[in-house]
Amino acid sequence: MRAIAVANQKGGVGKTATVLNLGAALAEMGERVILIDLDPQANLTAISGADEVELTTHDLLLSEDVDLRDIVQPTPMPNLLVAPAEYALAAAEARLAGAERRQSRLADKLDSLAEGIVVLIDTPPSLGFLTINALSAAGELLIPVQCAFLAMKGLQLLLRTVEGVRRRANPDLDILGLLLTMYDARTVHAEEVSERLKTHFGEQVFNTVIPRTVAFDYATVASTPLVHFRPDSPGAEAYRELAQEVIDRA
Ligand code: ADP
Ligand code: MG
Repeated sequence: MRAIAVANQKGGVGKTATVLNLGAALAEMGERVILIDLDPQANLTAISGADEVELTTHDLLLSEDVDLRDIVQPTPMPNLLVAPAEYALAAAEARLAGAERRQSRLADKLDSLAEGIVVLIDTPPSLGFLTINALSAAGELLIPVQCAFLAMKGLQLLLRTVEGVRRRANPDLDILGLLLTMYDARTVHAEEVSERLKTHFGEQVFNTVIPRTVAFDYATVASTPLVHFRPDSPGAEAYRELAQEVIDRA
């Protein structure tokens, strides 16, 4: 089992798009993939197409006897399952305050997963308990960074959170890579962000860059990964290239 958390406490940087499209690209390449939605906004969950689901990641974190296999839903794509979220997940933080192993709830539920499965975890735009659960459960962290806006301070805060998680719960958590998203080659600023990121993080920055294209919004409206919705679009191609890099970095 390979578990990758996708996190950045800044909203709108392409976390959910990355989980969805990287997952779809990996599934297309024959990997067995489970997407886990840990964001109460449940944007990722829409991919299942199900209107109502009974059990969600809220139950996974709060009920000892609910397993991942009890909550996963199929998607229209082979090899791709999703563990849905619901708005009630926002309350999980308060409900678990002071509870035992509250930071390791997700990790405990992933322990029993079979060899060879890839798990991608989508996180909310905060460094609260849900993101901490994702970081404690994952072996690797992928950080999407929006090209138009490089918040070095924000990245430092995220990396300090990673340090804390390593000390307390998950010493083996690795940085899989930083991913430049929403890249618009027409702006000088995008180039600048890319250069600065490489100066700071070197090889950790993925070679793949995700272009800014409105096609992602059309795919989102259709509740489908772009990789599936418009397989030949530049955005879909980019996520396939990323999937290959993710496999190569394993
Ligand atoms: P996050 O999960 O970090 O909040 P999202 O993945 O939801 O960010 O992306 C925010 C919005 O930007 C969504 O409407 C999504 O469709 C759109 N989007 C994501 N990636 C791209 C991209 N590469 N180019 C253009 N729009 C994008
Ligand atoms: Mg999101």
